[in-house]
Amino acid sequence: MSTTDVRKDWDTYFMDIAYMVSTRSRCSRRHVGAVLVQGKKLLGTAYNGAPMGVPDCSEAGCMISEEYELVVTDGKEEMVKKQRCIRTIHAEQNLLLFTDRIDREGSSVYVTDEPCWTCSNMLANSGITEIVFHRPYPKDTGKVTRMMAQKGITFRKLEQYQPPRETMMTISD
Ligand SMILES: [Zn+2]
Ligand SMILES: [Zn+2]
Repeated sequence: MSTTDVRKDWDTYFMDIAYMVSTRSRCSRRHVGAVLVQGKKLLGTAYNGAPMGVPDCSEAGCMISEEYELVVTDGKEEMVKKQRCIRTIHAEQNLLLFTDRIDREGSSVYVTDEPCWTCSNMLANSGITEIVFHRPYPKDTGKVTRMMAQKGITFRKLEQYQPPRETMMTISD
């Protein structure tokens, strides 16, 4: 059997699409893509971006907000100053804005990055029953995982996954 006979599994297939979608993002700090899947059908795609008609990060620069967050390294707690771009609507939130409730009932969301707390809260109330992500976002993992368990939403990380090479962004801060 040659390697061309190896078919992509569905997780890889939909996560690849999420990564392709993420390349549309114009934020130089973070490219996030999300897709809505019902069974094996693609029902929507979204990426992080400024509202339509408003200058985006490539035109107006990122809108940086500084905040302190608690980071635990080797059991030691430390407040670390972090910078985030707050110009964009997160991919998961755009996905909810551009899909219908009826399509979301019982659906899965594939998203390149582990959802933040706010997005997780909204996804938990959106009708979807599964979230599949790739890159970790440890800041909110604890509370997000607990909430998903309470809601009975499957929350899983693709461990063995490799994103398509052409979708990898170079971070320019
Ligand atoms: Zn930005
Ligand atoms: Zn978010």
